[in-house]
Amino acid sequence: MTECQNKVNNLEELAKFCNHKGYIFQGSAIYGGLANTWDYGPLGVELKNNIRQLWWKYWVHDRDDIFGLDAAILMNPKVWEASGHVASFSDPLVDSKSSKKRYRADKLIEEFTNERPANWAGEKTPPEDLYKFLIDKNIPDPETGETNCWTMPRMFNLMFKTKQGVLEEEGDDIYLRPETAQGIFVNFKNVQRATRQKIPFGIAQVGKAFRNEITPGNFTFRTREFEQMEVEYFFDPAQTPWKVLFEELKDYSFKFITEVLKISQENLRLRDHEPNELSHYSKGTTDIEYKFPFGWGELCAAGAYRGAFDLNQHQIHSGKDMQFHNQVEKRRYIPHVIEPSFGLDRLVLAVLVDCFYIEPVEGSKEPRRVMKFPYQLAPYKLGVLPLMDKDGLDDLAKKVYRDLRSQGIYCVYDEKGSIGKRYRRQDENGTPWCLTVDYQSLKDKTFTLRHRDTLGQVRISLDELPKYLNSSVFGK
Ligand code: ATP
Repeated sequence: MTECQNKVNNLEELAKFCNHKGYIFQGSAIYGGLANTWDYGPLGVELKNNIRQLWWKYWVHDRDDIFGLDAAILMNPKVWEASGHVASFSDPLVDSKSSKKRYRADKLIEEFTNERPANWAGEKTPPEDLYKFLIDKNIPDPETGETNCWTMPRMFNLMFKTKQGVLEEEGDDIYLRPETAQGIFVNFKNVQRATRQKIPFGIAQVGKAFRNEITPGNFTFRTREFEQMEVEYFFDPAQTPWKVLFEELKDYSFKFITEVLKISQENLRLRDHEPNELSHYSKGTTDIEYKFPFGWGELCAAGAYRGAFDLNQHQIHSGKDMQFHNQVEKRRYIPHVIEPSFGLDRLVLAVLVDCFYIEPVEGSKEPRRVMKFPYQLAPYKLGVLPLMDKDGLDDLAKKVYRDLRSQGIYCVYDEKGSIGKRYRRQDENGTPWCLTVDYQSLKDKTFTLRHRDTLGQVRISLDELPKYLNSSVFGK
């Protein structure tokens, strides 16, 4: 079969496909939607759960030095004062006098020029410098194409504020967490005590985070509500040079993307943050970026070295001792931290883009759309299809399907339409195998098993089926 890979040309095309198939729907669609909110449908939620579970296995269950946590989204507001989010978790917002739209100044510049101003510091670049660049380099309003239409950028805090309490006016201001990391820092001593773990060790958490982004968009790439999967790895800088651990964790993160999720290497790159981009407390951050249809975009921070900043701040603001006590050396110290931080929704999006193929099929005028998910990511592992929905073929197929489900194999039953159409449907679902029940099956309980990617078929008995239902035999 000729391999013809038609990558997703734009995300609108992919969003339409995802809506049609039940991967991702627009949020609150029956009310006209709520901008930039998305709901995961039956296929999308399986894909997302599979990625989350693989991440958890890779970072927690496969290691004996990282432990799980599930902290509350709502935290004492003092947490966000200590972490610096109240004072400085902001992005530069710029208004266009031409379209009256608001944009993130740093992202506009990154989008419209390959050059960066001298001393570029991403969203931390001073507003005056951003303004000068917008004007000097004739950065256009993407909506109208007009240049020279910008106001002075202003800093805009990204945290969602709400009230706690029954009566709004009496309630205290609280925030929806903008990152999962702080839930880990405030629990550092709890986890260390409960696990009796010595440094170094890590804590992992998966959960929702909220940011009032100025310019969300690009389908699910930038949203105001999203899911993070973060690890804080605590170590003693006197015993372990940070660079050694940083490289180790960076490689481990990269392997998760390439070896577990199997995202194509040619669409990935590592990007070290510029010195000015780094937070004042950080000596190094490396992102993994993916080549989306709109350009390179951050998938995750493979590693961010945060020093002792967070635990130090919590010690100062809470008045509680956040030190680790090295009993052998009789030494107390605040551990340093390296943070690998992944965005689950962005990983789902990258997998969808990376796995989507349109390819010709021999003997058919219509090319097929196929989601070539690695076996472990596929929402359904097998489609069970009776050749006809009569003569007992459907009864046997239903029995096989129910037996497999009860054995924990998440498969799908489909009897509607021609067998060719049903294969195509399963290709779009990314289902690795299809098991067809035909008249011979009634006689000798053998079935045709079709491979999604090669379209190769084998005749097997039910006893042989389990050997095919794993990633090594499937081949991805
Ligand atoms: P960006 O530069 O794209 O705004 P960031 O550097 O602020 O991202 P981090 O604070 O490092 O992001 O968060 C870790 C991860 O969380 C990111 O790599 C990304 O995958 C995810 N993430 C951050 N913001 C969003 C968002 N608004 N929507 C979806 N995912 C996000």
